Amino acid sequence: MIIDDNHYDVIVIGSGAAGGTLAGALSRRGKTVLVLERGGAMALEDQNVADVDLFRKDRYHPKNERWFGPDGDPFAPQTTYARGGNTKIWGAVLERMREQDFAEVSLQEGLSPAWPFDYAELAPFYDRAEQLYRVHGKSGVDSSEPQREADFQNPPKPVEPFFEPLRAALKRQGCTPYDLPISWSEDQDDPSGDAQLFGLEMGDPDRLRVRENARVLRLHVSSSGREIRGVEAEIDADVWLFSADVVVMAAGAVNTPAILLRSANSHHPSGIANGSDQVGRNLMNLQLTSILQLATERNSGRYGRSLGVNDYYWGDKNVSFPLGHIQAAGGVLQDALFAESPPVLSLVTKLIPDFGLERLASRSVAWWAMSEVAPDPHNKVWLNNDQIRINYIPNNREAHDRLVYRWIDTLKAVENDPLTKVVLKAPTHARGEAPLSVVGFGCGTCRMGTDPTQSVVDSAGRCHDVSNLYIADASVFPSCPSVGPGLTVIGLALRMADELS
Ligand SMILES: Cc1cc2nc3c(=O)[nH]c(=O)nc-3n(C[C@H](O)[C@H](O)[C@H](O)COP(=O)(O)OP(=O)(O)OC[C@H]3O[C@@H](n4cnc5c(N)ncnc54)[C@H](O)[C@@H]3O)c2cc1C
Repeated sequence: MIIDDNHYDVIVIGSGAAGGTLAGALSRRGKTVLVLERGGAMALEDQNVADVDLFRKDRYHPKNERWFGPDGDPFAPQTTYARGGNTKIWGAVLERMREQDFAEVSLQEGLSPAWPFDYAELAPFYDRAEQLYRVHGKSGVDSSEPQREADFQNPPKPVEPFFEPLRAALKRQGCTPYDLPISWSEDQDDPSGDAQLFGLEMGDPDRLRVRENARVLRLHVSSSGREIRGVEAEIDADVWLFSADVVVMAAGAVNTPAILLRSANSHHPSGIANGSDQVGRNLMNLQLTSILQLATERNSGRYGRSLGVNDYYWGDKNVSFPLGHIQAAGGVLQDALFAESPPVLSLVTKLIPDFGLERLASRSVAWWAMSEVAPDPHNKVWLNNDQIRINYIPNNREAHDRLVYRWIDTLKAVENDPLTKVVLKAPTHARGEAPLSVVGFGCGTCRMGTDPTQSVVDSAGRCHDVSNLYIADASVFPSCPSVGPGLTVIGLALRMADELS
């Protein structure tokens, strides 16, 4: 084993939304930071110039990586090991959780638990997160929007022209479409914001060091077992040991618990920070269904996400439990989620040549329906012979189905409206649900809470059992909001940077 001579203030494991943001912020505040990142820099063409290749090559699946599902069968996860992690392929829609998302909420099936703090605690960090990630948006349209100090600093990104008549058509149906808040760099070569650009590259280069292709294997504790003394990582077939005053896990909702479980030792026989037996449990994977509508005019199929609708976020007429969020997906040829999510499209892409997919994509308008799930201790990440295994049975299904059918009814009403010219009346709307391999929205596997017997970290993200170990990534979410987790992960990372400075 090679022992690194340097000792850092902080080691951050992973450079995605949490790790990249935190490392940049800590280094700006004078801390020496080492980031251990499993991947390398992602090629520009893989980031923003997705096309039909997206569908037929395993572009966004790490080579040789297989996880195992509930039935023990292997699958290739859609996850990105790179500087910036999953933010290199995300839709860059950065939404705040709603005030009520921080409180206990009854779902149609199950309970969405309260967070150990309320919205007001995170609001200033949401402000900073939106500024840092240059989020473009407009407040005051969506009535579910939480309170904010001021409007976005950047106006919404213009939408594809055909979305304007569609926006008007949705309004005629009583919906309130709004411009999705989107992280946007304005750089032509690399337009969508991510954690490499707005996290790592915003750091102080004299204090921030990133070791690429450094796969963290396990953590080592002191003789008392109360502190982390070393971080073991594999780099180019060598095994290295690194040390720091503070260690922060930011390897994502599957790899963070996997590393903690793999680090079991005599002080922590069931895994580091796992005195509560909650490490790896309560995995929540947002329910995601794509719905296709037929367009009358051709479009490029290559554009980002645009409109959101939250009219059913907290319920609907005669429904008093949350249903979820709707968003206009990106162009079918640009949205990495499409490449495997909807069986409908996956099938089409396997059966027909490129031009068929191009034609399908350019005649489609795609929507995502997104609904929360409740934490369940049986839904868990665990290790079987050192391989990652995921037990997962989604819950709150009926509420999600209601959202999907409600949205299809709305689309039909839009299509029947003689004033609407941009979409075609269709007898059916192809739809498909994201499979388990789409784990990018996962959260909850090291949840935060005030009771050390029921949670892994406290409300600051510090592990109950180990004094210098923190968790920054989406693992710490006690509940899973129906909007994307990205901005909340970034806000929590900025809050942790304050805590550690
Ligand atoms: C296709 C797609 C689209 C999405 N779109 C949106 C969106 O529009 N809005 C939104 O809010 N959310 C979106 N998400 C979800 C969002 O990307 C995640 O919620 C967010 O990235 C989570 O941040 P994280 O820091 O927890 O994990 P990640 O961003 O996944 O970062 C984890 C990091 O840890 C590294 N790592 C893993 N294992 C190790 C190891 N052993 N050693 C060292 N490093 C390791 C990884 O390489 C990675 O850099 C999307 C996700 C996907 C996959």
